[in-house]
Amino acid sequence: MPRYDYRCRACGSTFEVSRPMSASNDPASCPEGHDDTVKLLSTVAMTGGAAAPRQSGGGGGGCCGGGCCAT
Ligand SMILES: [Zn+2]
Repeated sequence: MPRYDYRCRACGSTFEVSRPMSASNDPASCPEGHDDTVKLLSTVAMTGGAAAPRQSGGGGGGCCGGGCCAT
């Protein structure tokens, strides 16, 4: 279940709510009970993805990575 970050405009605290995606737009009340909250952009943890930077050709040079341009 995805987690969503919310920020309470009443007390300024941020909190996290786990809810199904279908309820992602539902209002969430903060732990203090305030209803004046806004949803923050959540950072969804990508698991299993390749984190290697993609190097498409034509970048210039070819020696970087070989150790010859270490400074
Ligand atoms: Zn609050």
